[in-house]
Amino acid sequence: MQNYLTPNFAFAPIIPDHAAGSRVWDTEGREYIDLAGGIAVNALGHCHPQLVDALARQAAKLWHISNIYTTAPAQMLAKKLTEHTFADKVFFCNSGAEANEAALKLARKYARDHFGESKTEIIACVNAFHGRTLFTVSVGGQPKYSRDFAPLPGGITHIPYNDADALAAAISEKTCAVIIEPVQGESGVLPADAAFLQAARRLCDENHALLVFDEVQTGMGRTGKLFAYEHYGVRPDILTSAKALGCGFPIGAMLTTDAVAPSFAPGTHGSTFGGNPLACAVGNCAFDIISTPETLQNAVNQGKKLQTALALLGEETGVFKEVRGMGLLIGCVLADGYTDRAGELTQAALKHGLMILVAGSNVIRLAPSLLLNDEDLQEGMKRLRAAVASWLG
Ligand SMILES: *Cc1c(COP(=O)(O)O)cnc(C)c1O
Repeated sequence: MQNYLTPNFAFAPIIPDHAAGSRVWDTEGREYIDLAGGIAVNALGHCHPQLVDALARQAAKLWHISNIYTTAPAQMLAKKLTEHTFADKVFFCNSGAEANEAALKLARKYARDHFGESKTEIIACVNAFHGRTLFTVSVGGQPKYSRDFAPLPGGITHIPYNDADALAAAISEKTCAVIIEPVQGESGVLPADAAFLQAARRLCDENHALLVFDEVQTGMGRTGKLFAYEHYGVRPDILTSAKALGCGFPIGAMLTTDAVAPSFAPGTHGSTFGGNPLACAVGNCAFDIISTPETLQNAVNQGKKLQTALALLGEETGVFKEVRGMGLLIGCVLADGYTDRAGELTQAALKHGLMILVAGSNVIRLAPSLLLNDEDLQEGMKRLRAAVASWLG
């Protein structure tokens, strides 16, 4: 197919056409097991009948009206998000990057409102990923995504992930926010240590800085809890969500407390599409299904089964040296003889009818539907086994 899009994406050699549950079919009619989940987005698989219905019903009612007005779908979704989390207020936008952009702007504004003009510094982690706007690539800890776009916003420091001592050394009364992914997703599916997040909470409190959890990838059931911070017992001041929030319909959200929210006074921030009725109608339906004990338990159970099966495959073939993750966010670290070849294995998998992801160049990542059933799990593992065998030659 002729490609009319800018060359920043290296598209796979197949064209997906339609899908249902954890199966996808391409334009040639070939079937794939989807263990990639649209990069941790399709938390309820493809074309879930209740989501299709929620979207169609809202489509016949009201699509867009602007933030001059609020609507029932937006208020309902915000109510659900606040009732099930630490938060009291929600700002809606359209993506993870926008949610983080809002979080970082709010942290700067809150610090200025309460502590004056010099409290502007942001601390983030090496290898973090927070999105692709200029601010979020700068806060992200991967210079390859930011350096070509200099000059970059200032006042940003990076510390090694899971290094509480480095955070203690970097933080000061000039720090307005510390932003952390509870599991570093894009750079290799690396979970935080509880001690690191606990230290971050304490150090933020001591220095009057806000703790921001980027749960764009880990949120909405991905790790077996609604949000990953629940595993750690550490509450943030701001949390960002996107990816699975709309299960494929674009929506992002920034959650915060009644103490912080007032700094987003009328006119300070905005979004044309944020809180769009279509996105929020889908979000409400997705929330109702994801937040059930059954869905969350399925993520835990199938995550365990997948990790066990992947570890076994790693032992038998020698391709993985570690399998890690939480719930249905799983990373397989390539063994030393296969360093930086994750992309090759995903291509081999696609040839064998399986969609999987990389997380960096050295980790295979799985982020399937939270409703993944045994049949699709086993068929997916069978195809991965075949792909590994052919890759090894
Ligand atoms: C995907 C991701 C983002 C960016 O989300 P977009 O919707 O692509 O802007 C930000 N943070 C984390 C942790 C992510 O995984």
